[in-house]
Amino acid sequence: MRRSTRTHGIPPTRAARKDISELDGGRVIVLAKKLSAGVSRIASWSDRHKYYNDELALTLLEEASLELVYWLEDLGYPAIAVPPTHVDPWRYGGNPSQHLTPLLSLPHAAVEAGLGTLGLNLQLITPAYGPRVLLTAVLASIAVECDRRMETALCRGPECGRCLRACPADAVRHWERDWPACDAYRSPHGFAKLTDHVERIVAAQTAEQKKALLRSETSFYLWQSILRGAGAITGCRRCADVCPVGADYQAMLADALDAIPEDTSAKAERLADMIARETGGDAGSRPARERWIGKR
Ligand code: SF4
Ligand code: SF4
Repeated sequence: MRRSTRTHGIPPTRAARKDISELDGGRVIVLAKKLSAGVSRIASWSDRHKYYNDELALTLLEEASLELVYWLEDLGYPAIAVPPTHVDPWRYGGNPSQHLTPLLSLPHAAVEAGLGTLGLNLQLITPAYGPRVLLTAVLASIAVECDRRMETALCRGPECGRCLRACPADAVRHWERDWPACDAYRSPHGFAKLTDHVERIVAAQTAEQKKALLRSETSFYLWQSILRGAGAITGCRRCADVCPVGADYQAMLADALDAIPEDTSAKAERLADMIARETGGDAGSRPARERWIGKR
């Protein structure tokens, strides 16, 4: 394994094991790779250098996952790599904008593996790199010793709220996320955009209009995303960039990311309302998710 890639074994849920493998899901080994600080420092959520560099990091992590699969199989344990976007095709209902949940939630698996805890918008936060990590997993029925879940929350809650203030989709809720709103940003040139663009080309009135749409910047970005996944698998991660948790934040990021131009008075009011509700005993979705968010 590469030095900067960490592995952690956990017992998976019965459902995740059965959804992916009836036979070889006795353990979930979660792998994390940090994202590059150089592109985290670019403030624009839609910068394609970020998408591309994140895609390269994911490729490295996927290769490490496959190396682990082959290593386990050399030892006699059949194994399966699980990418972060592995959704169940049977759940697709013909609506490209429908939010599809992955077969195995890697942020939750990472919490169970002791890598970190979930934040206000349910992103995984780690002590070393905050939320600025990518995840994959490997399933194998190997009797490894499991890591322990962290009990104490890493997230600083609505009193921090920087993820909410920075979100271009305004998708951050009270220990919750508006996933369909987020999807349009974290996969800006994914399947939903592709089908929308093709529909616009088909519906255009004239041949000249169709040709212009075909040759448009949107077509160009869609093509690039199909080639590399940049802009489809990788996309917005502004909430991760601005999170102050992580040893890397002050050292590498604060000078570039402390200011949040997306902040508005409406967002500040929503955070103030969350703080007031928590003071009154209403912590939104937190109690139901305390296992993964952790205790204060
Ligand atoms: S990925 Fe982007 S759109 Fe989604 S919650 Fe984070 S900042 Fe908002
Ligand atoms: S930015 Fe603040 S509120 Fe959001 S996840 Fe990080 S610590 Fe929690």
